[in-house]
Amino acid sequence: MKVRITEYLDINLQTKKWCCNRCGYEIFDAGENYKKGCLIYERDPREVHNTVLPESEFNFAPDPDWCRLIEIYCPGCGTMVEVEYLPPGHPLTEDIVIDLEQLLKKYEKYEEYKKHEKRGGRMV
Ligand SMILES: [Zn+2]
Repeated sequence: MKVRITEYLDINLQTKKWCCNRCGYEIFDAGENYKKGCLIYERDPREVHNTVLPESEFNFAPDPDWCRLIEIYCPGCGTMVEVEYLPPGHPLTEDIVIDLEQLLKKYEKYEEYKKHEKRGGRMV
């Protein structure tokens, strides 16, 4: 059984892995930062924030000496799963920390409930 965590990320409760919910690729251990298993693309913010007018140098891009754009992609299908603005050289952030043990317990109870429901019984 897979549990949706974000728009693009699931956790497979059997394998205990982060998975892409677009292609099913198993990205990394669910107890770790999913970004460790993703493709990372560091970009100059000026590549994304274009100039305001065609012949102008003015734009709204952060200073590239102080800020980098970090794009995080699924290695299986190339879907962008996250974007961060970080200072150059900053380690990747860990934005989601899952209590895997609690998540497993929660869904064990859910599975038990579903079994009882199919038999017409109720759980208290
Ligand atoms: Zn994918």
